[in-house]
Amino acid sequence: MQSSTVTGAFAAALMLSLAVKLWLATRQMRHVAAHRDRVPAAFAASVTPQAHRKAAEYTLAKGRFGLLATAFGSAVLLGWTLLGGLDALNLGLRDWLLPRYGAMAYQLALLTAFALIGGLLELPLEWYGTFRVEQRHGFNRMSLRLWLADLLKGTLLGALIGLPLAALILWIMAISGGLWWLWAWGAWVGFNLVLLVLYPGLIAPLFNKFEPLADPALKARVQALMQRCGFAAKGLFVMDGSRRSAHANAYFTGLGAAKRVVFFDTLLQRLSAGEVEAVLAHELGHFKHRHVIQRMVGLFGLSLAGLALLGWLAASPAFYAGLGVAPNLAAPNDALALLLFMLALPPFVFFVSPLAAHLSRRHEFQADAYACRQADGRALASALLKLHEDNAATLTPDPLYVRFYYSHPPASERLAALPAP
Ligand SMILES: [Zn+2]
Repeated sequence: MQSSTVTGAFAAALMLSLAVKLWLATRQMRHVAAHRDRVPAAFAASVTPQAHRKAAEYTLAKGRFGLLATAFGSAVLLGWTLLGGLDALNLGLRDWLLPRYGAMAYQLALLTAFALIGGLLELPLEWYGTFRVEQRHGFNRMSLRLWLADLLKGTLLGALIGLPLAALILWIMAISGGLWWLWAWGAWVGFNLVLLVLYPGLIAPLFNKFEPLADPALKARVQALMQRCGFAAKGLFVMDGSRRSAHANAYFTGLGAAKRVVFFDTLLQRLSAGEVEAVLAHELGHFKHRHVIQRMVGLFGLSLAGLALLGWLAASPAFYAGLGVAPNLAAPNDALALLLFMLALPPFVFFVSPLAAHLSRRHEFQADAYACRQADGRALASALLKLHEDNAATLTPDPLYVRFYYSHPPASERLAALPAP
């Protein structure tokens, strides 16, 4: 493999993905702007012109912000790779730490420094997204103080979980020879499963308050539904989602016996008991159709393929040189290889994302159909309408943009498959 081949493939994928992203975003914004003054006929009775216009404004604002974020992200990516950012960081840390503290300390420092600098670079965009885009459209409920506290907690938690995991993977890479990627994959899968079990009880409460669902009528209704569907969960909880955002949601979390159902307080405030039941039946549909397991197995399969690819690439000096980094001659290159791989992969993965979106949309239709069998389909339709309106989701997306990005079918397609509310 030649380093010029690596550079060429990476630059081509980056430029092509960037061009497609810009093209799709422009199409979406033009489509939404062109339809902002007229509510589509199917929604004329249920959606006001004001709500429709608000959804268009919010979609356009997010679209403009997305363009900015895409351009910025691509510049940062080029800065790390072909323009030599990662190379400079690596040289500095290697000369300083390797002779004094050894290979593991140097590599962990490289991963940490990269994560911190990357996080700092993203910070202004995240601030803008929350305190300008979301704020202006009435969705943000976070104070700057809470935002900063979240940031601090997230960083500490990332270090607490990420550093031991990184040390474990680096250790495996150092001692297990040519098949290191297989062992690393095993560690990765095990780590994810442990995290799934620990997340609901240990990590999520660091950021939100969870209280058992108190409303006795709703509780009885939900429990009857779960019994009907043959679903055992450890508890029903209400989360104070309103502390951060006005967006509403419900979800399942955990694995095996640690499974629980979580409702955002914003969802319960907005929906009737029948609608909550229908939304939950939809979520149960994902479980009954084994979507959750399928998705997990798919992700684990993809990460095995990715690690095998990295196992092959990391052994070739052209992989490093082609992405703007001089490999170390007297020390392990494992942390470098991991970072370069993480940086270079997304522009390639972008081109398979429509396939994942397609599968996800199919799963949504299946879960909706399941909800219609176990609960009231009309209640699901009216709940979807309310959630669409509350989240200011556009009713008139560009069809091609939908095919590429939407993990959920647009409201028009979803409601067409449900009984009228
Ligand atoms: Zn769903």
